[in-house]
This record gives sequence, C-alpha cells and structure tokens, in this order.
Amino acid sequence: MERSIIHMDLDSFFVSVERKLDSSLLGKPVIIGGSSDRGVVASCSYEARQFGVHSAMPSARARQLCPQAIFVKGDMAMYSKYSREVTEIIKAESPEYEKASIDEHYIDITGMDKYVKHSLLWTKELRDKIVAETGLPISFGLSCNKTVSKIATGQFKPNGEGYVPHGTEKEFLAPLSISKIPGLGKKTYALLSGKGIEKIETLQKMSLQALQNILGEHGGSIWRKANGINFTPIEQHWEQTSMSTETTFERDSTDKAMMERILIGMVDELGYDLRKMGKITGCVTVKLKYSNFESHTYQASIPYTSSDHTILEKVKELFYKNYKGDVWIRLIGVRFSNLISGSQQTNLFEDTEERANLYNALDKIRSRFGSDLIMPACGQLRTEKLARLEKRKQEKLEAAEKRKAEASKESPHSHKSK
Ligand SMILES: [Mg+2]
Repeated sequence: MERSIIHMDLDSFFVSVERKLDSSLLGKPVIIGGSSDRGVVASCSYEARQFGVHSAMPSARARQLCPQAIFVKGDMAMYSKYSREVTEIIKAESPEYEKASIDEHYIDITGMDKYVKHSLLWTKELRDKIVAETGLPISFGLSCNKTVSKIATGQFKPNGEGYVPHGTEKEFLAPLSISKIPGLGKKTYALLSGKGIEKIETLQKMSLQALQNILGEHGGSIWRKANGINFTPIEQHWEQTSMSTETTFERDSTDKAMMERILIGMVDELGYDLRKMGKITGCVTVKLKYSNFESHTYQASIPYTSSDHTILEKVKELFYKNYKGDVWIRLIGVRFSNLISGSQQTNLFEDTEERANLYNALDKIRSRFGSDLIMPACGQLRTEKLARLEKRKQEKLEAAEKRKAEASKESPHSHKSK
C-alpha cells in the first residue's frame, strides 16, 4: 500500500509564541536569542530572514544585517508548553505520530483515503484545528514519505500546504536546489556544487554508483532522497525513547550528600550523551531502590533542554522531595525521556549564553580526550568547575599572546636576525 506521511512544522515557532503573548511584535523583524556580542540567533521571524538573518548566526552579525530587529531573550518553558499543546491535539487525532522536534511532527495516515476521507482533506482539517486551538501558524507537507513531506513543508511555508501526490515525487523535487535535501550539509553542498551539481534533477539523472563515487557511503542516502525514495517509518514510541543510568551501592546507605554527588555525575554523563546525539529531553525520572528491594520512580516534565544545570535542578528536587534519609537505599538511577531533536541553540536563552557556549567547549574537550579525564566535582556541576579552568587557561593563552605581540613590536627585525 502507498504510504501517506504528513510532516507538520510550526512557522517560526518561537517568534509566533512571542507574538501571541505580545501583539506589538506582529509584522516586525524579531530575533529570538542572545543579544550580547557573543550571543547566537536561536530563531527569527520571516521579516528578519529577508535581511539574511538565520538561526545559529552570531547575534552581532544579525544586528549588522538588520539593525531595526527586536531582540527577545526567549522562554523555553513557554515554548515547551505550547509545543506540548500542539502534540496533544495531534495525539488525539492521529493514528500514528512522532514528535521529531519542538515544532515538528510526523503523522502516518496510510490507508486513511480508503476508510475515512481524502488524506489531504484530513490533513487540512487537522491544520485548521491546531491553528484554531493554539493560535499558532503551522505548515504541512503530505506525500508518500518523510523526506519528501519535510521538503514540501519547507517549500510552502509559512501558513502553507504542500501536497505531493503519489508518483509525482521526482517531478516535485527536480527543480529544487540540492540544499533542500535534509541531511545534506554545507560540506557536501560545496563538493557537489563545485562539480556543477546544483539542482536535484541533476542528482536524479546520475546513477547511484556515480554519486557514491563522489560522496562515498553517504552518497546512497542522498541519492535515494533525491529520487523521492525513503522508507523510514514513523517512530511511534518516541515518548518512550529514553536514556538512563543507575548504580547499586556496595553497601546500603542513607548518605544523602553522597547520593547527591552520584546524581550530579549521572546527569553530567547523560547530559553529555544527550547533546552528542543532538537531542533534548522533556522528562526526567529519579529511581530509588530500597534495601527491601522495593523500587520507586519519581518523574517530572521539564522544559525541553539539554543543559545539565536545568536538568540537575529538577533531579535534585525530585530526590530531596522524595527521600528524607530515613530508609536504607541500595540503588539510585536517573532517566531522561521524551527525547526529541534539538540543538544547543535551544539552550541559549535558558541561562547565560556563556554557559551554553561552555557546554560546546567542554563537550568538545570531552569527545577529544574522553570523559575519564574529567573528574566529577563534588557538590557542583563538573561543567561549572571546568568552565573556570577553561577560562583561566584561555586568559593565560591570551596573556601569552599579548606578551609575544608586544615583544615582537619592541624588536621588529628580531626574526630576521640569525
Ligand atoms: Mg518550525
């Protein structure tokens, strides 16, 4: 049976939420993210995009391109709330759905045509319902697979409806730039356009082997996407996708301080993996097993995040609220669930930009040297301790460079002398 897959994507989601709360932002160039020189654009309105502003761009550059833009710090708790409202509507209406990111969902309505109503009509009605109930603009793409639908959404945004009937996938894709293919990064784009391959049509005319000769393994997936072929299923159980860790004590304990240190280490470890996977979590769980082997789990929803300190706050709260130090514990554990795709940008406005940049820097160090190098700091986040170390190192480097520069100024010909 031909599949029918919807991709739904809220239009400039963060901006739309801000505008819902403050109508004076309507029609203006709005940038969500850090406004300081070191900040990064997390999201921006279509009005700002017209000036060349885009997400992940340094805020300083965005300000140059569009000086009249209004900067808004952003509020992840608020965005998470609206995101979940949209998810609830989709969940109630859809046979099978997957939440892919904070503003994107995939829905599988294969067979709908036969038994209910035309899939396009069904999708339009769902879109209308979301707009009516949340007041947020949303676009969709409907086709036989995830990739084509995602590309279609992008083509018809904002407030758009992209319908690619079965059998017309290649035709729809042909005139588009290869940059529209999800997963085709800057490097691949540069490589292909350097060979004169600009349009998807050109990829369609190439053989799979020819493209693999240029791109290696990766060529296969790009070739299939270009030809409208993708069998990736809807991840129905995304809500259960989780990551967890737990530890059994050598001896049962009531030492809360020791347990807190372990929880810190666990959050630190899981947080690193979470960021490495390019995911954010919407739910944390603390598990306690008592000496009588009875297990209890304590769970809480949180604003979507991959920041250790945000997660740790909730983990500590759950732990101290539910453990008074009166019962012997043999095991503790932490779980992150409701994982969706999300980048570091979404952490930017939760706290200081410095801290967000710091995670990047520290994660890089860790992936280079391994996590064993970084020892858990007691009573505080490892990242915070390392931040200070990293800053001190940076200051030393800068001071050394400055000294070097000054020295060479004093004796400008020194490097020519023997
Ligand atoms: Mg969006």
